[in-house]
Amino acid sequence: MGMAGLGCAWNLTKNKTNINLLLLEKSQKVGGRATSNSRHGYTYDHGANYFTFEGLSQSQRVIDIIQKQLPTDDLVHITKELYLFDKDSKIYQTKETQQTEKLTYRKGLIQLAELIQQDQDLNVKFEYFVDNLKYSQDTKKWTITYQDKANNGNKQDVVSTNYILLTPPAPQIVDLFKKSEYHKKDEVIQIFEKCKYKKQLCLVIAFEKKIQDIPYFALLNEDRQHSIVWITVEDQKEGHVPENKSLIICQMSEQFSDENYEASNEVVIQKAKESLNKLMPQLEQQKMFESQKFCWVKRWRYALPNNYKVSEESLQEFQQDGLFFAGDFLIGRGRVLQAFEKGLLASDQIQAKL
Ligand SMILES: Cc1cc2nc3c(=O)[nH]c(=O)nc-3n(C[C@H](O)[C@H](O)[C@H](O)COP(=O)(O)OP(=O)(O)OC[C@H]3O[C@@H](n4cnc5c(N)ncnc54)[C@H](O)[C@@H]3O)c2cc1C
Repeated sequence: MGMAGLGCAWNLTKNKTNINLLLLEKSQKVGGRATSNSRHGYTYDHGANYFTFEGLSQSQRVIDIIQKQLPTDDLVHITKELYLFDKDSKIYQTKETQQTEKLTYRKGLIQLAELIQQDQDLNVKFEYFVDNLKYSQDTKKWTITYQDKANNGNKQDVVSTNYILLTPPAPQIVDLFKKSEYHKKDEVIQIFEKCKYKKQLCLVIAFEKKIQDIPYFALLNEDRQHSIVWITVEDQKEGHVPENKSLIICQMSEQFSDENYEASNEVVIQKAKESLNKLMPQLEQQKMFESQKFCWVKRWRYALPNNYKVSEESLQEFQQDGLFFAGDFLIGRGRVLQAFEKGLLASDQIQAKL
């Protein structure tokens, strides 16, 4: 249950709509790509790194939820600046106007999803994989077949419903409809096939001592010609990293991720570290790798939409069959709060049909 699904379920429950919700999530946690891990006392946001209130169409609605309706005790404002770098690993400061308010939570970005779930006591069924859909034009009902992955996928259940909201990344929606029975499945597949997602390899490197003299919280490759696209120093986020220790997230470029996606962890780590040492020479100067606590490679098969946005108008015709969609494929880029907002808007559309 990612941010779009949570936005919809949260609003439908909050408005006390008389709907019996069934929330199916294939993984073990809420958050989807807005996620975090905690390991050996280090907390890190290895999916989305932070969120901003930028680019929202109903910004006041979303700001009110985050700042007034949900608890704010653990909300963390990232105060250090974002710097840029070029293909030659030259680092430079951004113009002040490019600095926007960046937020996460003390226990990691996943806390946002957890707070939303807890606020309305949403009963998410974890490790339930939606395998197949079937629509009957006679009864105007959907039949969903899902697998209980906790039982090794052996247990298959079927449920019948009038309305469905789908929020996986576009390529996974295509996979689902290829297996499903729906008289408009070819139209759905055609629409979502156009929205490709980028792969991303991500390294999480924890150190038992603190990297000194880092003036920034993150580095972004502006010309997109470097093999690294983004680095975050997670120590700059309150509550994430124990005192006097460090953790960096290193997100590799689209090209690097495509070329090395199937390579072993050892190969990915070795190649990534070569680039990292050029970009952050203080790592070698301060002998940081001698105090490395752990290094983990996260592979995101569907990390971010590749700048193509599915048109909301093209999806309207499915609403008469009770079929709704929300997610970052409607934005064309990866954005936590915009995905959440798309979920809120989907709940408005569903409520209008009730
Ligand atoms: C590496 C990375 C860095 C990013 N950085 C940022 C950032 O700094 N700032 C920012 O705002 N955004 C960032 N993003 C993008 C942001 O995380 C996403 O745009 C947003 O979280 C998408 O939410 P969603 O609900 O649309 O999709 P998802 O989060 O993908 O949610 C879909 C959910 O559906 C579940 N699912 C899929 N298929 C099935 C199935 N068949 N059955 C049951 N469940 C299923 C999935 O497990 C998942 O929980 C980043 C993303 C990545 C991967």
